[in-house]
Amino acid sequence: MLSTEQISQIRKDFPILKEKIYNKNLVYLDNAATTQKPQCVIDEIINFYTHYNSNIHRGVHALSQKATNEYENARCRIQKFINAKHSEEIIFTRGATESINLLAATFGMQNIKENDEIIISHLEHHANIVPWQILCQKKNAKLIVIPVNNNGELLIDEFKKLITNKTKLISLVHVSNSLGTINPIKEIIQIAHSHNIPIIIDAAQSIQHTKIDVQALDCDFLVASGHKFYAPTGIGFLYGKKNLFDNMPPYQTGGDMILTVSFNKTIFNELPYKFEAGTPDIAGAIGLGRAIQYVQDIGFDNIIDYENHLLNYATEQLLQIDGLKIIGTAKHKASVLSFSLRDIHPHDIGTLLDNEGIAVRTGHHCSEPIMHRFDIDATTRASFAFYNTEEEIDRLVKALKNIINLFY
Ligand code: PMP
Repeated sequence: MLSTEQISQIRKDFPILKEKIYNKNLVYLDNAATTQKPQCVIDEIINFYTHYNSNIHRGVHALSQKATNEYENARCRIQKFINAKHSEEIIFTRGATESINLLAATFGMQNIKENDEIIISHLEHHANIVPWQILCQKKNAKLIVIPVNNNGELLIDEFKKLITNKTKLISLVHVSNSLGTINPIKEIIQIAHSHNIPIIIDAAQSIQHTKIDVQALDCDFLVASGHKFYAPTGIGFLYGKKNLFDNMPPYQTGGDMILTVSFNKTIFNELPYKFEAGTPDIAGAIGLGRAIQYVQDIGFDNIIDYENHLLNYATEQLLQIDGLKIIGTAKHKASVLSFSLRDIHPHDIGTLLDNEGIAVRTGHHCSEPIMHRFDIDATTRASFAFYNTEEEIDRLVKALKNIINLFY
């Protein structure tokens, strides 16, 4: 596990952590919404714009070649990081949301027919609900939802019963952004494949907390966002098996996704360019590649162990507070803690914590259905990254106790 000395070194890599909020040291516990960026990622982006800003793929000049190489290197880095078989199985997108929309507009439009069924779960982020809901409306198909128990764990036996010969697609979150539940995706993928059903994994909240090996998992598609992985906003990726991508129609059309165009006919480009129309976020992709390298240099196992330690510590400490209830008590969790505090409204809690320089998220976390499942409208959510410390959790606990004193 990372030592206290290592963590204080790591904290120096993240310039924003030195910020003062209302003259108090920032405690950033909103990592599930977005993570902070290390200096090396910021430098990489500055370096791109300072030294080789240029458009990719089409230029013969030196800057364009350098930009193309770095962009493609970033793709290869993602490929290796998730152990994809081919680099062209990685498509750059704006993030998890765009990746899922791409799948709904291409794979979904092509394969879902009237009366078919798509299975998602009660734990999904809106990004993995709404695109499927709209597709179902267009196709007159049905959205089926895997229920959860009171701990926020999927009911696997119920899931098995929901599969019928009408089930044509499963799209499932790996780690819940609102409760922190880690779903047993390997088992679920095996079940899906035993019925020949393709499965999409939403890894927006897992790529930063767990090791992902797409070949070992054998998932058909996987989506993720760079900004949740210490990289810039506006960049993410879609992984898909090559044979599936090959058979899918393009998503957006225009430059770069074509081989040739005449007014009579267009021939689409090969993978991965077929799905990357227009000028992409070149700096963002290069920044994402650098973020992966940064994490690998620290050692992903070290990060996972330390984040588990933070989760356990925070859970123990928060449970000492009278009237605090953790929402989402799954056996397997990532470092996300949602809670309610007596009958104090989460927005009041969020505002009062902010006055202390502590950033948490309050609300429904873009997953209203799971809030309703627990008969609540909102929670307060503290989510941890490997640059957080026990001292910061102590500050959170102290501030929450002060809030209780203010209200009671
Ligand atoms: N899925 C999950 C589980 C998420 O937590 C998020 C972001 N909160 C998304 C999808 C959407 O990600 P993005 O907004 O980066 O596209």
